[in-house]
Amino acid sequence: MEKPIYKRILLKLGGESLSGEKGYGIDIQKINFISKEIIEIKKLGVQIAIVIGGGNIFRGQEGSEKGINRVSADYMGMLATAINALALQDSLEKLNVETRVQTAIEMKAIAEPYIRRRAIRHLQKDRIVILAAGTGNPYFTTDTAAALRAIELNTEAILKATKVDGIYESDPLKNSKAVKFSKLGFLEFLNKGLKVMDATSISLCMENNIPVIVFNLNIAGNIKRVIVGEKIGTIVKGE
Ligand code: UDP
Repeated sequence: MEKPIYKRILLKLGGESLSGEKGYGIDIQKINFISKEIIEIKKLGVQIAIVIGGGNIFRGQEGSEKGINRVSADYMGMLATAINALALQDSLEKLNVETRVQTAIEMKAIAEPYIRRRAIRHLQKDRIVILAAGTGNPYFTTDTAAALRAIELNTEAILKATKVDGIYESDPLKNSKAVKFSKLGFLEFLNKGLKVMDATSISLCMENNIPVIVFNLNIAGNIKRVIVGEKIGTIVKGE
């Protein structure tokens, strides 16, 4: 059996990764694809916490640009992540794995509140823990929630799933000659003003020495490749 190089990871799934071609809403086939990919690494014995975004449904910033109060818009964004969490939970459980959804804003009828010790207990019992509602605070992103939870739950790495195969010097979808970095230091990332993760989240990772691996989730087998230590994507870590 292939050996994982990490025992416990945090997977950051952007909302758009659930939306398929359309770029918005929830595409069930896409979620089922992601679930199967996740199960592949679970079979290797990896403990998995997932922070899920909400950008496929609602982003606070966009709402506030249209005139909604920023704080209300951010709460709407956080609620969007809870919708995604329930969709992912349903899809994973159809594949016979145990999951728990925990939310940073209490929604007791549908999920557990986020309780760090309890989340760790679930991970130890091999349950996939899906963390929704970001940090529970407006003005943050789910990338920052991912960094915060990775620190709290002692995960060895953050796997940041995207639709491109790593971090490029400029947007590879716009510039076909853009060069990909195979690794970057945290300060290098910040100094280059890269946008793949926001600066708050990368600063938290830097202070707590948690590597971030940015990789393309749309290619089957990629999560597993990262977990067994294949050099795909871009790793951002301490110099
Ligand atoms: N959000 C927030 N606080 C958090 C996390 C998220 O206010 O701690 C809101 C924010 O409005 C954000 C939205 O939730 O735009 C959805 O999260 P995000 O944009 O990070 O999702 P992703 O880009 O990963 O799909």
